[in-house]
Amino acid sequence: MDTLVSIEIKAPKGGESIANEGIKIFQDLQYKFDVNQDESEISKINNYSGLKSATVSGDTLNIIRKALEISKISDGAFDITIGAVTREWGFIDGRYRLPEDRKIKNLLNLVDYRGIFISDSEVKLKKRGMFIDLGAIAKGYAVDKVYEFLKTKGIKEAIINAGGTIKTIGSNKKVWKIGIKDPTGKKEVIGILNLESGLAVATSGDYERYFIKDGVKYHHILDPRTGYPANLCRGVTVVSYSATEADALSTAIFVLGPESGLELAKRINAGTIIIDKNNNIIVSDNLKGKFVRYEN
Ligand code: AMP
Ligand code: MG
Repeated sequence: MDTLVSIEIKAPKGGESIANEGIKIFQDLQYKFDVNQDESEISKINNYSGLKSATVSGDTLNIIRKALEISKISDGAFDITIGAVTREWGFIDGRYRLPEDRKIKNLLNLVDYRGIFISDSEVKLKKRGMFIDLGAIAKGYAVDKVYEFLKTKGIKEAIINAGGTIKTIGSNKKVWKIGIKDPTGKKEVIGILNLESGLAVATSGDYERYFIKDGVKYHHILDPRTGYPANLCRGVTVVSYSATEADALSTAIFVLGPESGLELAKRINAGTIIIDKNNNIIVSDNLKGKFVRYEN
């Protein structure tokens, strides 16, 4: 998943082996979802694009189903078929580059979640060259899966973290303090979110993967309508019971911008903290008592 993952648990003897099994779950999912590995299930789907269906596991079907759901409710702001374009920008192989405008416009023909066909155990992409990139949702899915595993093992207190996509287990009274990064980098954090146990949180930011060319900053969250970096937000945090949903929604809201983003969060009962392009901080009503903002 190209990020650091960690599982911290508070448990009597045997806790360490449970944590290690959790790490294996991360690795197993990585193996299925990694587009940089030719044998992964997602690569199989991508390699067969426009030609035939790929038979895949339940995890791959589930994550794609969830991604399609978020695409629908975000009106396409979230779209895992953005891969054809993210690849051109070098956000997949890590060799960042500014593509030719004409090239981006052409590749947009391959971006449309409605061209993902899914059946009981098979996935097919409609057009040759379509390319799925799960970068915006895979961490959340993995965190949820590890969470479920720890629950079945009877773990009573834990924090699972995949590159800032976090879910916790704890008693009703336990509140977790999560720092929200300052996208400008001037401060370490803009404030602290008090997160109840059992909730998940995820953040998307323009500071995570980017490059600067001729004085212009280009980051990794692309607007599927234009193929260029979305420019209405600098950072978006989402709180939800599902880490999958928090992860995908933070990306979706980042693309939608503060106004429609806040509206979407409200509609599905998620919480959000949005830092817009002018560094204004917008907090959804349901998080107002939980987010403590640091004064300048
Ligand atoms: P996140 O950090 O969760 O917001 O995910 C960002 C990653 O998701 C990028 O590095 C791309 O791999 C992918 N991505 C970029 N734009 C989109 C989009 N509009 N919809 C879905 N995935 C995207
Ligand atoms: Mg995300």
